[in-house]
Amino acid sequence: MTKFWSSMVKRTDPYVPGEQINQKDIIKLNTNENPYPPSPNVLAAIQAEMQETLQLYPSPTADGLREAIANQNGISKEEVFVGNGSDEVLAFSFMAFFEPGKVIRFPDISYSFYPVYAKIFDITFEEVPVNEDFTLPIEQFYGAEGGVILPNPNAPTSLYAALEDIEQIVQNNPDRVVIIDEAYIDFATESAVGLIRKYDNLLVVQTTSKSRSLAGLRVGFAMGNPSLIEALIRIKDSFNSYTIDRLAMVGATAAFEDVTYFEETVGKIVATREKTARALGQLGFTVLPSQANFVFARHETVAAETLYNQLKEAGILVRYFNKPQIDNYLRITIGTDAQMEKLMEAIRQLI
Ligand code: PMP
Repeated sequence: MTKFWSSMVKRTDPYVPGEQINQKDIIKLNTNENPYPPSPNVLAAIQAEMQETLQLYPSPTADGLREAIANQNGISKEEVFVGNGSDEVLAFSFMAFFEPGKVIRFPDISYSFYPVYAKIFDITFEEVPVNEDFTLPIEQFYGAEGGVILPNPNAPTSLYAALEDIEQIVQNNPDRVVIIDEAYIDFATESAVGLIRKYDNLLVVQTTSKSRSLAGLRVGFAMGNPSLIEALIRIKDSFNSYTIDRLAMVGATAAFEDVTYFEETVGKIVATREKTARALGQLGFTVLPSQANFVFARHETVAAETLYNQLKEAGILVRYFNKPQIDNYLRITIGTDAQMEKLMEAIRQLI
């Protein structure tokens, strides 16, 4: 059956995303989506675009969107790369900056897409064990032969590493690229983007999927020194000139321009997160101090797998990882206050 497969296909070990169940009445707290719809300006921009220009290819350079992102971050568009979700941006970054035969490092408890990319691009990797409390052993990332990639806040632990620690990692890898995957940074203290002009080896990757409610539109981006951005553009232009379609382009641009809506929805999620952490604590959970739009929690007596299954039966989906060290934890996305109240009610019944 597999005789026509290339060696690249044969060595793949594809990523499995959280379940996507299209059932209206289910409460979906398993893939860290935003419970609020995107800004109304996004929908208006997409509608206007639909009536005009879908017969034409989109801009291959995505200048308008890159400018909107640059403005938001006080940088120039030459320091911004955009892609079809940050997953694509991360995949391109592995190709652009990591080298087969040179060992890269990432935390052993981390985004499970990293080993998938490493395998497909034939990049050897070392998984650095996190500390017992799931914090990162910062010095273990110094002097990595092939480079470093890590999420901040980390997923699925939700823990945030201080900017000084991130800077130390970047400083102590002067000849290799350090990729900071900031998918959840808008729910946290501070981005590392302010360091990109100080360090030419720092690439900061973010997404519109979480804080801007656009998981369905697929727009991710990277910020860094123009020469890093140029490398990513060379990779993209060797695959597909048009990774951002017209609707995504105008929709994401409108999302970056509506700062008020962004701040309001992020503020609501952070408030709900704190409330949820307290409520879970009262129900006997240990909850890691989250700076993301999800919490990572373990119950003192009931096994995570049992809870996961029972919640699913009750119509509430959360994420469970059957992996040593974290197999007694649940990762719970922060929904609306009403959704979280239903979750608490269901848990109260179960335990
Ligand atoms: N990085 C991390 C750490 C994530 O959790 C996710 C979401 N699964 C992504 C990147 C990818 O997000 P997207 O492709 O939707 O931008």
